[in-house]
Amino acid sequence: MAAKITVKSPIVEMDGDEMTRIMWQFIKDKLIYPFVDIDLKYFDLGMRHRDETDDQVTIDAANAIKEYDVGVKCATITPNAARVTEYNLKQQWKSPNATIRSILDGTVFRKPIIIKNIPPAVRAWKKPIIIGRHAYGDIYKSTEMVVDGPGTAELVFTPSAGGEKKVLAVHQFKGAGVIMGIHNTEKSIRSFARSCIQYSLSEKCDLWFGAKDTISKQYHGFFRDVFAQEVGKETGAFQKAGINYRYMLIDDAVAQIMKAEGGMLWACMNYDGDVMSDMVASGFGSLGLMTSVLVSPDGKYEFEAAHGTVMRHYYEHLKGNPTSTNSVASIFAWTGALAKRGEIDNTPEVVKFAQTVDQTVIETVENGIMTKDLMLIAEPKVTKYALTEEFIDAVAEKLKKRL
Ligand code: NAP
Ligand code: MG
Repeated sequence: MAAKITVKSPIVEMDGDEMTRIMWQFIKDKLIYPFVDIDLKYFDLGMRHRDETDDQVTIDAANAIKEYDVGVKCATITPNAARVTEYNLKQQWKSPNATIRSILDGTVFRKPIIIKNIPPAVRAWKKPIIIGRHAYGDIYKSTEMVVDGPGTAELVFTPSAGGEKKVLAVHQFKGAGVIMGIHNTEKSIRSFARSCIQYSLSEKCDLWFGAKDTISKQYHGFFRDVFAQEVGKETGAFQKAGINYRYMLIDDAVAQIMKAEGGMLWACMNYDGDVMSDMVASGFGSLGLMTSVLVSPDGKYEFEAAHGTVMRHYYEHLKGNPTSTNSVASIFAWTGALAKRGEIDNTPEVVKFAQTVDQTVIETVENGIMTKDLMLIAEPKVTKYALTEEFIDAVAEKLKKRL
């Protein structure tokens, strides 16, 4: 084993909850600390510490990402009523991911990890399909009303600066029905477009955007125009990166994606992203192979696994039973952060280390060492699965030989 690699600038580390917190420690102890010298700015976003600090620790962590540009986050509990009781919480704190996303004004990109013996359900898919979901507005911030008889529904806009109201008829009801008002803001759509462009340029992948502007000429047309304007500002950068922008009708995009080999970022409006990200995730195999990165329009990055804290496995672990929890997406969160750090710092040896870890993880699975979730879908079949810690140990052994 060669000398440790020095990481020039700090990375913001956010610890989390349950089974992922257990894996987090293994990953650090076995795959990170033995090989790199790194200044980690540590924030404990574990449920108890968030409660103790009145969630200030989450805000501090988000601000630290703003300062240092790169963060890596373990999965965390988003408390519901049952968690308030379980942890005796002062209140039902907000989702840490939502808090961090709103402070960074970022967009979340989900990317599957491709492994040869874990074939996707869709045969055409050879490379990752990355989904970027706009996470503001539309039906997620709607106002709805059930009407129980005849009447008039109108769309009214009252300018704050004074002047005439704008009134449009929505429908003249002859009987009962239902109405919904939705909105979005130019600022949010523009940030979303810019984050997608930033990601496409950074990963050198084509950018697709689909909407239904034939039917919704103004609402969906507005999204299409904002995207076109923002992409237009970066024509030179797209050419230099050798990538293209494609606008399509959403139904065309869906049809094309099933026949495509992948390798693109698919930017989706809020609802499309909600639905399509689950389709793509299940099409690629396991939640344990899905990574997620939050990118702000000004180029701050937060990496994590797309799955949760794997509570069911944690309770088995607490009972003293062996677990077989997949750490691949959490390991890739670390290597994603390290690679980005190396890129920003201009330290190719750090980027190379991150790539070596990725390759080692993939080879370990390709050699038939994998956790139970993957064993169930592997081809050719494997007959034995690795326990949580055994898998990470197998990767560490291989890594020692390669470095
Ligand atoms: P989850 O943690 O994603 O797990 C759901 C199920 O998916 C697991 O029970 C397991 O199935 C399978 N699974 C997920 N990740 C796996 C992995 N790495 N290896 C093997 N199997 C895996 O979702 P949840 O149980 O609904 O949520 C638990 C907690 O996570 C909640 O408190 C929620 O708020 C939080 N959460 C956090 C984030 C985040 O921080 N980004 C995201 C989502 C949820 P089997 O039980 O069949 O083995
Ligand atoms: Mg969904």
